[in-house]
Amino acid sequence: MPIKIENLTHIYMKGTPFEKMALDNVSIEINNGEFIALIGHTGSGKSTLIQHINGLLKPSSGNIIVDDVNITAKGVKLSDIRKKVGLVFQYPEYQLFEETIEKDIAFGPKNLGLNDEEVGKRVKRAMNIVGLDYETYKDKSPFELSGGQKRRVAIAGVVAMEPKVLILDEPTAGLDPKGRDDILGNIKELHNEYNMTIILVSHSMEDVAKLATRILVMDKGKCILNGAPSKIFKEINTLESVGLGVPQVTYLVQRLREKGFDISEDVFTVEQAKEEILRALKKN
Ligand code: ADP
Repeated sequence: MPIKIENLTHIYMKGTPFEKMALDNVSIEINNGEFIALIGHTGSGKSTLIQHINGLLKPSSGNIIVDDVNITAKGVKLSDIRKKVGLVFQYPEYQLFEETIEKDIAFGPKNLGLNDEEVGKRVKRAMNIVGLDYETYKDKSPFELSGGQKRRVAIAGVVAMEPKVLILDEPTAGLDPKGRDDILGNIKELHNEYNMTIILVSHSMEDVAKLATRILVMDKGKCILNGAPSKIFKEINTLESVGLGVPQVTYLVQRLREKGFDISEDVFTVEQAKEEILRALKKN
């Protein structure tokens, strides 16, 4: 069990007039190799939650256990947590700062105290995963790149630390469709080929439907739904009541079912819908 969150409560600015309970007694377990999507309206507590998993925030109460280590305990070093849990913030490209792409990606692994040879290997591997050719890009400035490429450099910097768990906060925000597909493809590869546990914060139900093995839905600091996409996307009313929805194609399938089409209600991606509709047409 790599991650166990027990009764986690977080109150910002406690004891002031601005006190805000951002997380309210949240308990979640995440297994090795899962692909978790964390969804919820703005302000529901997603960012606060993920920052606890890599030790950036301390709980007001509750425990976070990563690989049998209670990371909320005194004396736990942040660097030890970061080796296991990597966090890619929203718009991470704003944090690029080195003069070359190679140096920027090497920054994290160097800080882990690895030797030059190991750092070099990791930089090459990470660039390869995010689809940036090492020889072409290593000496370029990150600031010469397009938005999508910059974001991939920033992700490579976290990937090069080779964490077991990779958390990404809205990694496709603000990118064009090609940039989005590239990044989602990279994340899928990290999950499938490198067996990384992924926690993806996303607003896109389409992306979530394609990728996640489990969905956690946050609302007002609580985790209100937790289950496989097939289970969560049946909760249309609950999702809509907290300002979310289901994939567009699921609404379409629902309409077709209402009109008497014999299609499964477990359709969440366009690909599945195509197959189901063709199957239903053949039967008639
Ligand atoms: P999300 O990531 O789902 O948008 P957040 O975790 O950022 O949600 O925020 C949860 C709640 O905590 C919101 O009401 C937000 O205004 C509040 N909040 C977040 N960060 C701070 C902070 N640094 N100080 C005070 N309140 C905060």
